[in-house]
Amino acid sequence: MSQTTTVPEWRVNLADNTIDDDEIQAVSDVLRSGWLSPGPQTRAFESEFADALGCPAAVAVSSGTAALHLAVLALGIGPGDEVIVPSLSFVASAAMVALQGGTPVFADIRSETDPTIDPADVRSLITERTKAIVAMHYGGYPADLAALAALADEYGVALIEDAAHAPVVRAAGAVLGTIGDLGCFSFFATKNLTTGEGGMVVARDPALLDRIRSARSHCLSSSTWDRLRSGDADYDVSDIGLNYRPTEIASAIGRVQLGKLARDRERRGALTAAYRERLAAVPGVVAPFAHYDGDSARHLMAVLVPDGVDRTDVRSELRERGIQTSVHYRPTHHFTFYRERFGPVRHLLPVTEAVAPRLLSLPLHALMTDDDVALVVDGLSESISRSSERSPS
Ligand SMILES: *Cc1c(COP(=O)(O)O)cnc(C)c1O
Repeated sequence: MSQTTTVPEWRVNLADNTIDDDEIQAVSDVLRSGWLSPGPQTRAFESEFADALGCPAAVAVSSGTAALHLAVLALGIGPGDEVIVPSLSFVASAAMVALQGGTPVFADIRSETDPTIDPADVRSLITERTKAIVAMHYGGYPADLAALAALADEYGVALIEDAAHAPVVRAAGAVLGTIGDLGCFSFFATKNLTTGEGGMVVARDPALLDRIRSARSHCLSSSTWDRLRSGDADYDVSDIGLNYRPTEIASAIGRVQLGKLARDRERRGALTAAYRERLAAVPGVVAPFAHYDGDSARHLMAVLVPDGVDRTDVRSELRERGIQTSVHYRPTHHFTFYRERFGPVRHLLPVTEAVAPRLLSLPLHALMTDDDVALVVDGLSESISRSSERSPS
């Protein structure tokens, strides 16, 4: 077999996972067990994840997008309904609202140091048609859930937490994902707990979670695992459902990854602190959440390049040095589909418009060294000075 690599060789990767012999062992155990679709591993992963969050139950699914889709579906969101989402987020939440026939209404972020959805802007966007608000915990740092939950209560709308970056984060006295009506998690390859592809949903209302568990697998009255074990082949179908089931392979990986989360997070915390210290010496660079001292998944090391510096120049210079970067995110309301389908945003999003072109995500993962941090910040600092020389403002 010829050696092929599809992943470019970077000196410092943007993200990396901590998969090692433990996960390999868990996967080979599943493969030898003979059962690959949801069964004992998935049930164990669900109950261990729920325990970690301190909630009674969780439903494992095939992706974070599936988790968001099931949340929107279970809330009964459809044509004529509006859901307020941050424009500065991954497109999945807006897409799942649109898929169900609802209208995503884009809200602004709070500030350049806290790029999470702005509760004051959310309030101004609430109408008779509003059915839900989506809060995304950017980089694993909590959105203002106290204010958002109060708003959701006041107007009788649902609060969905997009906790894709934030598995098992204790903030404001509770665990992210369990504060709103629904919490959605992702285990995509770049996330801080990964199963390759995967996700999880939790809900405060057990009836809502039952609907989600049912819709995950065609709204069948019993699962294949149960039918095979009981010998009873009969089932009924109560509604339109989907197949968003995870594999036993993914669930087995997830259980091992969950056990490593605290250790990995400690490393991410140390790296984030090292970054912040070095970044403080780079003129004009803003590091969001620099003064946040609570719990966080420390999923992203996002910075804002100085005003007037071309982010593309900085990214290409870092690429030349073997440093992989990304952008979290391009505002959803700028994308062609959202402009064409939903027209101009209801009102301007001045903070999003000012912050988004300056955002740059630097490498951050648990396998990085302190030297990697120094290399990245030196590269950033030099590319910024060069870029400022090119375009004196
Ligand atoms: C990754 C991500 C998703 C989607 O999760 P997938 O598992 O890739 O489907 C949704 N929202 C946010 C904020 C994400 O980062």
